[in-house]
Formats: sequence, C-alpha cells, structure tokens
Amino acid sequence: MASVTYESVTKQFGDVKAVNDLNLDIKDKEFLVLVGPSGCGKTTALRLLAGLEEISSGNIKIGERIVNDVAPKDRDIAMVFQSYALYPHMSVYDNMAFGLRLRKTPKTEIDRRVKEAAGILGIGELLQRKPKQLSGGQRQRVALGRAIVREPKVFLMDEPLSNLDAKLRVQTRAEISKLHQRLETTFIYVTHDQTEAMTMGTRIAVMNFGLLQQLDTPQHLYDFPANKFVAGFIGSPAMNFFDAKITGARDDLKIDAGSFQLPAPANRRDKLAPYIGKDVTMGIRPEDVHDSDYIPGQMSTSVIGAQVDVMEPMGSEIYLYLLSGKHSFIARVDPRSQGRPGKKLDVAINLDHVQFFDKQTEQAIR
Ligand code: ATP
Repeated sequence: MASVTYESVTKQFGDVKAVNDLNLDIKDKEFLVLVGPSGCGKTTALRLLAGLEEISSGNIKIGERIVNDVAPKDRDIAMVFQSYALYPHMSVYDNMAFGLRLRKTPKTEIDRRVKEAAGILGIGELLQRKPKQLSGGQRQRVALGRAIVREPKVFLMDEPLSNLDAKLRVQTRAEISKLHQRLETTFIYVTHDQTEAMTMGTRIAVMNFGLLQQLDTPQHLYDFPANKFVAGFIGSPAMNFFDAKITGARDDLKIDAGSFQLPAPANRRDKLAPYIGKDVTMGIRPEDVHDSDYIPGQMSTSVIGAQVDVMEPMGSEIYLYLLSGKHSFIARVDPRSQGRPGKKLDVAINLDHVQFFDKQTEQAIR
C-alpha cells in the first residue's frame, strides 16, 4: 500500500514529449485510471513508474521515496500487461511462483501465496496446466495471480483486458474492481476505453498529447469536463458540438446556432455575458436531446425542429441521427419515439446540461 506522486515528470523521445510536465497525486488504495487516445503518453507514464523507462526530468515518488534511480525490481510494484507474458513451458503454479523463487522466498510461503491468489481468482483447479491449455480469460487471471503473489505496494495494469472478447471483458472488468476492494492496494490502470475508465476508476486522469487534461472522479468528469477534448472523450455516443454565437442583452442572452436558437441557461448567464457577439462552441450530450413527446421528469428544455437521418433502435432506447441546417447530431431518445428516417421531429434540449467552450482555448466556460 502506497501513494504515488508524479512531480513535473517529462519523458522525451527525440523530439516527442511522450509525457509533458505531468503532476499527479495518486492516493494510497486508490484505483486511478489513466485514459486517452492512442499515443497520448499513458503507457509511457506507467513505464516510468515501473522503472522500464528513464525519466527525462522531474521526480516519481512511491510513498515518500523518490524512485527515479531505484531498480525496477526494488520498487515494490507489480505490472500486468496486455500480452500476458506467461512462460509457455511452465505450469500455472510455476508461472505464479517464479518471481517469488527468484527472490528466494521460502517454499512454504510461496505455496501459501500461490494457493491464496489462485483461490481469489478462481483458478485453483488450473494450477498444473500449461498456458496453452488455458482460455484467454484464464491466462489473464494467471497474469493477475502472478502480480498478486508479489503482494506489491502498487499494481500497474496496461490494457489488461484488450485481448478478451466483449463479454469476458465486461466480466473481468468487474472482477478487477472486486480485486481492488479485496486487496485494498493502490491500482493504476491504463486504457484507451472511456467505458473501462468510467466503470473502474475512483478517479480518472485524462491525457492527450502527453499532457494531463483533467484529473477527477468519473461523475465530475462527465458533468464538468474542463475542456472540449475531455467533453468529447468521456461519454458514449460522444457529445455533439455546435458552432454558435452568443447574442442578445445580458439579462436575455441567446445562443444562436444558425438553424436554431436557444435561450442561455439562467445559471450560465454571468459566465456567458462576456462572450456577447462572440463565437463559442456549444456541447450537448446525446442523452440531453429528447423526443419532445417523451421528455423525462422535470427539466428546463427548449424545443427545436430537426430532420431524422438515421434511426438505430437499441431496445431500451433509440439513437437518432438528426439534421438541423448545417448541423448533424445524435440523440438518445425514448424507445416509444416515432422519429423515423426522412421525417421531421421536434426535439427538446435539456438546457441545464448544455456546455460551452471558448472557441480559441477550447476551455470550458463555466
Ligand atoms: P497506445 O494506447 O497506442 O499504447 P499510449 O497513450 O500508451 O498509446 P505511449 O505508448 O506512451 O502512448 O506513446 C506516447 C508517444 O511516445 C507516442 O508518440 C509514441 O510514438 C512515443 N514513444 C513511445 N515509446 C517510444 C520509444 N521507445 N521511442 C520513441 N518514441 C516513443
């Protein structure tokens, strides 16, 4: 159990700053997810902590100890990779015991730890098998088991679910969350998948181009994205963006998106007033666009006309691809909606959840 701190950590490969001035305080026992698109630097951030890459500048601390110059094997961490990296000629038992044998752990202690980890992961029956006799999901458990027996202070996981099929991935996701609760150890988990990040992380660090964009709880990231990148990355289907202009007077602000106009949400007037006459980016999540015949609960809405382009019934809801002037956007509407391709449909926008971003800086206006 330990906290982990990145202090102004930069990693440069030639001209590329894979990690750029990263400051991150990860609390003891936290499940922190590093998420971002391919190439954003999340794996590099993890490898720097594991000691598999050397830091260009800054410090990494595990607990109170600066580990920049500590050998990987002495950092008291265990890493689980996307490729399970099991030794093919060794049994499951020996794969799990291998690291402990290298450390000259007594035999009885190895046996206790391997059996306990196998029990936690439900692979007690498989200990004598070779990796090639296991399914992908079972191999991933062995890889997790090998990490658990080390009883590390910090678990690092780099896309550990990406080789599993969709169903197994959802199942293993929940198992890793349970494992975290049971082991009460710090977990740092890398993924490009926002759903994994949202469902597993106690906090999420969103990265792009080597830079930390926002560090927050899943709900806060979703409700209050710091900038347009985070707003578009978190949530599925992604947030709709509209070019719009702020018009009108301070106490009667309007958002003019060309083909439709919305009144400015009352609680946003003060922040939007300096933008009168200026262009902004407006963000509306698909779940905040409703068929006007089926508006759930109490919310302050504004109705606009749209044309249905494509309809995707999902069972519990319908995704509608809508057109309004030059804008195309997605709505997640009630399954009773009669919106059909080629037909007109009035949709209600939940004004309480509309987001605004500065056109130049792309930072949230809030
Ligand atoms: P992915 O999800 O695709 O693995 P990532 O977010 O984990 O992406 P990194 O692997 O950390 O990204 O890479 C960040 C940047 O650093 C990329 O531009 C990558 O090309 C570069 N990079 C990573 N490792 C090296 C290396 N050993 N030598 C040169 N450039 C590297």
